[in-house]
Amino acid sequence: MIRNPIPWPDNAKCAVSITFDMDADSLIHISKPDDSFKRLYPISMGKYGPNVAIPRILETYRRFGLKQSFFIPGWCLKEYQYQIENILNDGHEIGHHGYLHEDPIKTYGNQREWFEKTLEIHKQICGKHPIGYRAPVYNITDEVIDLMIEHKFKYDSSMMADDIPYEIKTPKGNLYEIPVHWGTDDWPPFAHYEEIGYMMPVQAPSKGLLGFWEEFEAQYEAGGFFMLIIHPFLTGRLARWKQVESWIESTLETKNVWFAKLEDIIKYLDDLKNQSIWTPSVEKLPYYHKKIL
Ligand SMILES: [Zn+2]
Repeated sequence: MIRNPIPWPDNAKCAVSITFDMDADSLIHISKPDDSFKRLYPISMGKYGPNVAIPRILETYRRFGLKQSFFIPGWCLKEYQYQIENILNDGHEIGHHGYLHEDPIKTYGNQREWFEKTLEIHKQICGKHPIGYRAPVYNITDEVIDLMIEHKFKYDSSMMADDIPYEIKTPKGNLYEIPVHWGTDDWPPFAHYEEIGYMMPVQAPSKGLLGFWEEFEAQYEAGGFFMLIIHPFLTGRLARWKQVESWIESTLETKNVWFAKLEDIIKYLDDLKNQSIWTPSVEKLPYYHKKIL
């Protein structure tokens, strides 16, 4: 049961978004800035994303006629510009994902510089201002939310307070939140990355992906919203992507779903809200004004 289910377009039972965070090798450069340039294995693991996985993913989307959303750090927009052009030419959305995947908690107090530098790169390379943001490692802070409101963003996608999109209200303004969750993120089943402190046994593709499909079934039954938060260098690998591709194909054939970019979902929800057809749940921020202990 969902308290305020969304009446999706064309009577679709569930909206679906496959979002890719294309972090590439920004992860090693931000975590080991002194010697990352010497670390060829993690650089090459990251480069697999833009160079091998992205062409594969774009080909699948073209075949099924899907437009989806990507979140990409500003440094990667510049470094992998040739692939960014392909993503944009195919009609996909690119959201703000920090400059070099800096953690907003670790850079607290200095986010303006990182945030606005990245906005400039978006304007230069993508030719437009993004309307959505996802915090690196989901570590969204009040500082970043204020910057998003100041720069007229429409949505964040880093928090976890509900099953379906909701609204965040702060003293400075409002944003939509498109909630994420670790259960629909490929980091727990597939990431194995000692250099950034993440050591997990890598799951077989079918086992790692099974959790996602179970999440989808529950959302579908409840008339909800299903979003994957995945990474090209993890889920864009051959065996895993083959299974995601089969899932997309069978879902399109057998289920009544609306595959959409997050920017289109937000535009649709905003229209529903303005016409008083649907009212989002509201989370008021800040949650707390001072230390708890
Ligand atoms: Zn990321």
